[in-house]
Amino acid sequence: MNYNDILSKKAQDIKPSGIRKFFDIAAGVPDIISLSVGEPDFKTPWAIRREAIRILEKGKTTYTGNSGLAPLRNAASEYFKRTIDTDYEPDTEVVVTVGGSEAIDIAIRALVNPGDEVIIPEPCFVSYSPIVELTGGIPRVAETRMKDSFKLNPDILKPLITPNTKALILNFPNNPTGAVMRRHELEAIAELLRGTDIIVISDEIYSELTYGVPHVSIAQLDGMRERTIVVNGFSKAFAMTGWRLGFVAAPEPIAEQILKIHQYAIMCSPTVSQYAAITALNDCIAEVREMAEEYDMRRRLVLKSLEEIGLDCFTPEGAFYVFPSIKQTGLTSQEFCTRLIKEKSVAVVPGDAFGECGEGYVRISYAYSIKHLTTAIKRIGEFLEEII
Ligand code: PMP
Repeated sequence: MNYNDILSKKAQDIKPSGIRKFFDIAAGVPDIISLSVGEPDFKTPWAIRREAIRILEKGKTTYTGNSGLAPLRNAASEYFKRTIDTDYEPDTEVVVTVGGSEAIDIAIRALVNPGDEVIIPEPCFVSYSPIVELTGGIPRVAETRMKDSFKLNPDILKPLITPNTKALILNFPNNPTGAVMRRHELEAIAELLRGTDIIVISDEIYSELTYGVPHVSIAQLDGMRERTIVVNGFSKAFAMTGWRLGFVAAPEPIAEQILKIHQYAIMCSPTVSQYAAITALNDCIAEVREMAEEYDMRRRLVLKSLEEIGLDCFTPEGAFYVFPSIKQTGLTSQEFCTRLIKEKSVAVVPGDAFGECGEGYVRISYAYSIKHLTTAIKRIGEFLEEII
């Protein structure tokens, strides 16, 4: 049987994630120190785990309504009001999803017709382009640059807008660069979009992790709520990656389509996780703050250590990644990372996994203990001394 002839052409055309590839290589190396995974090293706060245990003991293990438990949608709506000062009707404008991942998928699928263009600032999280392609859309890359602090600006965006532009994806705080866009910078983007039919998908999964700067959503700027889909989730802020829970908020006509796709693809998000997430949103903001403070401490330590070993690095203001340039080594990102694993047993992710313009950089996650980070950066320093 020739599977190539049978399988979906679109599925075959998309590339596997470059992060997973390195993660898998690293998994086979003994005593490897990995800084490659974008996942909190904290345990989910105890109050959330305790609530999940209680719910399991009560045997609440059936489906929920498609859009999610009402108290969770209410809590999500209050959360949006509190954090981004934007009102969403819990019954018709909020859908509880299987992580931010599903929220991104169904938001794109609700919008994109074959041939529609979606503008994606890169370097960026790995899922946006493949999902746009699977939907029949055309990703249009907006290259952000270190000299612009990896932020999107009108000069980069404007030339990419065409009559076929359906959507713009924004992800600030950003994975992999850690860039955070300020209100006036988002305002300049909004200025270009008002009066058009372009919809923004704003992936704000790292919104709780900003350091000394506020998180602002483009949805909260004048005239933008009606043209924005906000994606958020529990994985990063609440250290709940394995619970697979996120949420999406959008104006009712968009949310209605999103819900239909969710209904057929997923039915409902995991029930125990949903109950536990009510506790997360209502009672665990203090724990989120504590984890954010710890990340900030690590961020400063990592930046200082990278400076000491001579790696040029943009100062990230959010998420839990640094994205240093390795151009001075003369190696490509792939070569650098492959040799670093082989020669020093340290795994970081090549920047080109996040788009071609990530070439010349590597992503280091600092969601690891100080001890782990210090040892890994010391080894990176030794590696640099040996190769430069
Ligand atoms: N968006 C971004 C920018 C991410 O980095 C991630 C996870 N790495 C996600 C969405 C998806 O997270 P989850 O599905 O666990 O909520």
